[in-house]
Amino acid sequence: MKEILRGVRDPELGHDVVELGMFQGATVSAAGEVEVKIALTIAGCPLRSQIQREVESKVAGLPGVVSVKVTMGELSQDERSALMDRVRRLAHDNPRPTEIAPTTRVLAIASGKGGVGKSSVSVNLAAAVASRGFTVGLLDADIWGFSTPRMLGLSGRLGGREGLIDPVRMSAGSGYLKVISMGFLVEEEDQALMWRGLILSRAVEQFLQDVRWGDDLDYLFVDMPPGTGDVQMALSRLLPQTEMLVVTTPQAGAERVAARVADMASRSYLKVAGVIENMTAFICRHGERYEIFGEGGGKRLASAIGVPLIGQIPIDEAVLRGADSGKAVVLAEPESPAALALADIADRVVEDLAPPVEMAGCTARILKAVNSAVG
Ligand code: ADP
Repeated sequence: MKEILRGVRDPELGHDVVELGMFQGATVSAAGEVEVKIALTIAGCPLRSQIQREVESKVAGLPGVVSVKVTMGELSQDERSALMDRVRRLAHDNPRPTEIAPTTRVLAIASGKGGVGKSSVSVNLAAAVASRGFTVGLLDADIWGFSTPRMLGLSGRLGGREGLIDPVRMSAGSGYLKVISMGFLVEEEDQALMWRGLILSRAVEQFLQDVRWGDDLDYLFVDMPPGTGDVQMALSRLLPQTEMLVVTTPQAGAERVAARVADMASRSYLKVAGVIENMTAFICRHGERYEIFGEGGGKRLASAIGVPLIGQIPIDEAVLRGADSGKAVVLAEPESPAALALADIADRVVEDLAPPVEMAGCTARILKAVNSAVG
């Protein structure tokens, strides 16, 4: 019975009624009369009769069945949230294809609240990793408050060919950055605000599916918007291999931020790889250290969520100068305290979060070459 009902899908959720927990049992009389219980997400579900008809026709086809009665009920609140969890997990396990090669390491930079330097860290970390000879994608998914183009001094418009959009490319040290941002599509940040959330999360999906990122992408850094909304879900659905790096400040209430981050991670099934503390202390010209924003926030947050603290970036005017002049501080002033700290973090990323080892010598490019040689 169960097996045959796996053929009945909830057309809206895209999965079968058994997988979704909507099949709630069946009784069969000696004479072959079958009664099937199906619970819908809501009693007035518009797909009710369609699901009912499909269950009837599937069960009626089983040998020995003389009649089928389908009783339609409604899922309880708990069952409904379990179903939504299952749908998310299924979506996560069966992602739709993107233009991101399976060999690309995807790191999402997130924060529990705004203004902690998430975008500055994303841009600079991407540039620092690229300057070590890697090809690094930078997806500015902070579509409401995009700042990447300004921080990198990029102003281009997106072009494309053969149905795919080309990212804006720039060199960084011995490597390359490939950048995509909402800022390349709209003139002013205010314009993006007029777009509805759903359309914007579609934009992120499109940035993953319709951008020619290339087979050579070693890393993709994603500057995440704050919160736990549609963009996080889109990312986890399309790129379930994504790991999160959480940016925090020393004074941030660790427990509160930890709870938000844990919520974000568990809702989207993304793994948290580490914590980065920004605005750690101000070091004056004479080398004196001032802990303006308190201390220990990064360490407390890291231990609260059970991940390593992978670096601490001091408060440094050079970061502001870099953002204002449109040149990432790691490229413009590599000897500044903030750039040195970011370089250390980049080293740790390259060491600890390297693109998959067995794939490193066997990337999609090599696979392609092998295939074409065989073919
Ligand atoms: P978020 O993306 O979290 O909103 P931003 O990266 O836009 O934060 O940073 C907020 C402001 O703080 C910007 O003006 C940025 O230049 C500044 N900033 C970020 N990190 C530092 C730092 N380590 N030292 C000095 N200023 C910083």
